[in-house]
Amino acid sequence: MKKILFVTSEAHPLIKTGGLADVSGSLPKALAELSQDIKLILPNYQALKIHEKARFLCSIRVDNRNVNILETHIPGSSVTVWLVDYPVYYNYPGNPYVDEQGQPWPINAERFALFCRIAVEAAMDRIHQGWKPDIVHCNDWQSGLVPALLSLEQDPPATVFTIHNMAYQGLFPGRTAAALNLPGKLWNPAGLEFHEMLSFIKGGLIYADYITTVSPTYALEIQTAEFGYGLEGLLEHRKEFLGGIINGIDLDQWSPETDPYIFQNFTVETLDKKSLNKAELQKKFGLPVNERIPLLGLIGRLVEQKGIDLILESLPEMVALNMQFVLLGSGDKEFEKQLQQLADLYPDKIALNIGYDEALAHVIEAGADVFLMPSRFEPCGLNQMYSQRYGTIPIVRKTGGLADTVVDALPETLANHTATGIVFNEASSSCLLEAIKRALILYSYSDTWKKMQTNAMKMNFSWQRSAEQYLALYEKIK
Ligand code: ADP
Repeated sequence: MKKILFVTSEAHPLIKTGGLADVSGSLPKALAELSQDIKLILPNYQALKIHEKARFLCSIRVDNRNVNILETHIPGSSVTVWLVDYPVYYNYPGNPYVDEQGQPWPINAERFALFCRIAVEAAMDRIHQGWKPDIVHCNDWQSGLVPALLSLEQDPPATVFTIHNMAYQGLFPGRTAAALNLPGKLWNPAGLEFHEMLSFIKGGLIYADYITTVSPTYALEIQTAEFGYGLEGLLEHRKEFLGGIINGIDLDQWSPETDPYIFQNFTVETLDKKSLNKAELQKKFGLPVNERIPLLGLIGRLVEQKGIDLILESLPEMVALNMQFVLLGSGDKEFEKQLQQLADLYPDKIALNIGYDEALAHVIEAGADVFLMPSRFEPCGLNQMYSQRYGTIPIVRKTGGLADTVVDALPETLANHTATGIVFNEASSSCLLEAIKRALILYSYSDTWKKMQTNAMKMNFSWQRSAEQYLALYEKIK
């Protein structure tokens, strides 16, 4: 049994801004189910959704500050969560990283540096709990200083650093390093310095014993200039200690057999009932109810990363095809406006819901025939996995986790029952359109389509599978 300290800046359902929270909420539970001794450590944000009062665990003085550590657990599980309680840094309303205008909090470097220092104290058991972890598993830049600081300790635990999105690196002006009172040994270009800036993520990339990303393909992509944001050389240098492990999905929430949000539950055996969900979805979005018209869906943040510009370029041609398109999402105001204009022009073909709506996301996954995910980059991606569970064939661009979780429908994959979707290469509207046309042709062969749906629904995207891979990694490095 391994003792693991999981360092993260968000964890569902305590606090969530994105995919990191899903991983931090699910992976520790899956590891606990594999009999591992795991604890989370997280800042004590005001916005944390805690039902019962967290218990006082201890106080510690670090960097001239008195910090309390409180103890609670992940709601609905027995996994312990330690909360770093320093009200000046964490006890105010709002998002963990940015203010209402989307601007980073001005003291983010101080906030997360203190969080990292406390995680190090816990990792070395200088908080006197009689619990010293074998492994410290850090996530994204907010925990990047942990492997760096641990590298200066005697007999530190082994460290893993997981990259959930290379686009966020925790870069601050160089003078911050002095203001944070960081050990001088770490301040050089082979350490935390990045073009005279202080880079939190480099602390993970350089000093962690092993680096993971959330898909094997993304692990390769970030070693190239297109996806590496200037850190590709460093990552390439460390490639022996870099690998990808696909995230799991929460099967309690995303299973067509039991999903309480959808009109009609169904299974592989009762796949015909999926059409009732399709009719319901068409009704909900005010589209003509017709079982034979292929219904395409998209859910997500309306940002360039997700290839929304490709969708916008393709829609004028898509409306000439026999299809309907529903979209749920919000984000870039310009994208929202242009999508709305097209929906107004083609009300029988395109329907939108601009917003965030968890229940509706389930209704779309259950009712659509096809799911569009033409991302420019995608470290892992969840919706393509949800889609497959619901027999909704994903059309994805061959990048990151999309490339690793969707099997393109080719003659051989159709013949050997592994095809689960449509994969295209180039981030262009013509390639996306070609993929959509390919899907519509396959859809017209209902036996072939049903086989693909069945293959997709049988895929194993459980957290248990991912947790087993993390555990194998922990065993390798300690
Ligand atoms: P990312 O983390 O880059 O946004 P993922 O595919 O990994 O993309 O995860 C996005 C998650 O957020 C999915 O569960 C998706 O269904 C959900 N989501 C995104 N936008 C919306 C929305 N407008 N309404 C409901 N759920 C959404």
